Amino acid sequence: MYHVIGMPATEAERQWCCEPERFHEQMRWLRESGHVPVNMDTVAAWLDGRGGLPQNAVCVTFDDGTRCLRETALPILREFDMPATAYIVAGLLGADNDWLHAAGWSRRTLLDAVDLRALRDSAVTLGSHSLTHVDLSRVDNDAIRREVADSRARLEDTLGTAVEHFAYPFGRVRQYAYDAVREAGYRTAATVADGAVRRGDDPLLLSRVEVYNWDDLKRFSRKVRWGAADPELRPRSLKRVARRLLQFGGLYRPRLPT
Ligand SMILES: [Zn+2]
Repeated sequence: MYHVIGMPATEAERQWCCEPERFHEQMRWLRESGHVPVNMDTVAAWLDGRGGLPQNAVCVTFDDGTRCLRETALPILREFDMPATAYIVAGLLGADNDWLHAAGWSRRTLLDAVDLRALRDSAVTLGSHSLTHVDLSRVDNDAIRREVADSRARLEDTLGTAVEHFAYPFGRVRQYAYDAVREAGYRTAATVADGAVRRGDDPLLLSRVEVYNWDDLKRFSRKVRWGAADPELRPRSLKRVARRLLQFGGLYRPRLPT
């Protein structure tokens, strides 16, 4: 899971800004180490039992849809022939990331309709990241339905293709939002819960592994191999390791938070 591919402009946003050179070396490493990039359609078909998944499959995702995706990430994805999936804030096309200003982020322009069509035409699968990036655990049910269903309709109008994937803003999900995502017809929905996706996982509660600004190639490769954002064996990560082992054994599944 990536957000911005670019240099951080403030300290507050540093964690979520992957510098272009790092992104380039990470994509090259994925290719050279025999990983097989897939998009979320392939993951969805595999989870549905209607398609296979290569052994070392990896799904590159971007949240928020800032302009750097087209300007900086797309040429690198093309260089390595990497499919990817990007989650777009459908009500803010061509606007900016105003929901992050209060948190100290710099002003970043979001992709507009022309950018989205260019990404679509270059093997980037586009999903919804709501209409306005509101925290779905903090708004009423009408607003949840609008954010989930209207964002899909609006993106489908813009793209002329089906939009089948969703990412919960801030990764926050409660029962009503989960139900709204299912009713709207999405095939998958991504959270920010840490971990790789395993067979049998709920397609509407997919975990991901976040890539941070300070991940050098050694840390990045460990993250991919371990399927964990914290790949160091430290006491506080032992619980996570135990959970992963249970998950491998089919004894643990991520659940909806209550
Ligand atoms: Zn977001």
